[in-house]
Amino acid sequence: MTDFIRPQVRALTGYTPGEQPRDDGFIKLNTNENPYPPSPRVFEAIRAALTGDKLRKYPDPLGTAFRETAGRILNVPPEAILIGNGSDDALTILTRTLVPEGGLVVFPTPSYLLYRTLAEIQGARWRTIPFDAAWQLHADEVPREAAVTFVANPNSPSGTLVHREILADWPGPLVVDEAYADFADENCLGLLSRRSDVVITRSLSKSYSLAGIRLGFAVADPDLVRHLVKVKDSYNCDVLSLAAAVAALEDQSHMRANVARIRATRQRLTEALRRLGFEVTESQANFVWARHALPVKPLYEELKRRRILIRYMEYPGYGDGLRISVGTDAEIDCLLDHLQSMI
Ligand SMILES: *Cc1c(COP(=O)(O)O)cnc(C)c1O
Repeated sequence: MTDFIRPQVRALTGYTPGEQPRDDGFIKLNTNENPYPPSPRVFEAIRAALTGDKLRKYPDPLGTAFRETAGRILNVPPEAILIGNGSDDALTILTRTLVPEGGLVVFPTPSYLLYRTLAEIQGARWRTIPFDAAWQLHADEVPREAAVTFVANPNSPSGTLVHREILADWPGPLVVDEAYADFADENCLGLLSRRSDVVITRSLSKSYSLAGIRLGFAVADPDLVRHLVKVKDSYNCDVLSLAAAVAALEDQSHMRANVARIRATRQRLTEALRRLGFEVTESQANFVWARHALPVKPLYEELKRRRILIRYMEYPGYGDGLRISVGTDAEIDCLLDHLQSMI
């Protein structure tokens, strides 16, 4: 049967997500999950959706209630919202809609590696453009024929922001992946009213503590959204996820309070790592990127033996580092104690 696999898929390395250990007892600082629980309203909404009638029927294919809530909170029309099974699904739908076979997908490096996988599945070409030393991008490096550029902003693994003015003048179609925007000082939503070829994607996985629910969305020109809807699975978001997501968005103060706690811990973690000799990039997300003159892979491995999971990452032409999610204060204290004993 493997003889029949499309060559693009056969050649694919595939995106490797962070480890999800099956047993408890790990301090998990490797996949940027929120260490705090979601709003209590989320639990109420899921309980209210647990009726035989709601589960028996298909969900609303467009997620109308979610679009109305998200539109109201972001101050855009509901028709500008596309629901996704996680924002990764929204990125997949965008790639399938915007990128022709053999077309060119552009994204920065070091950044989120899924963009490459999406291009490869699509049978497209891809090219990276490098961040400069200040983690900024230069639009003149984008080839004229690019079908789309993906920019994670804040970026992963660095946690840095590309200046809004750079993205405002970006050539050609641009997708700004704002999975971490709620942790940052600014975002690119304002670009939508100035350009119809900019799309913003958002996620409920990080700031709203709902990685297990799988709900993300894109915000785009309603004319584009009408086409994106044709490409998505009819029922890409389920009844329970949609109910949970509406409730989470309705409780902005819960999300804001958790974001404030995470930002305070982020600052403390950054300073403590610097005292241990790490070079830590100033982060606008819920993780920090740390490099060291010492080899860092053994630190990652030893922490794992001690049941603390962080992310070791290595990028061609750039080097390696540790991406550490901002956990609770207690989790971060534990991590710092162990690192201190190892360095
Ligand atoms: C976590 C993450 C996403 C995916 O979020 P989901 O909504 O869980 O699919 C997208 N982009 C970046 C850069 C991320 O780190």
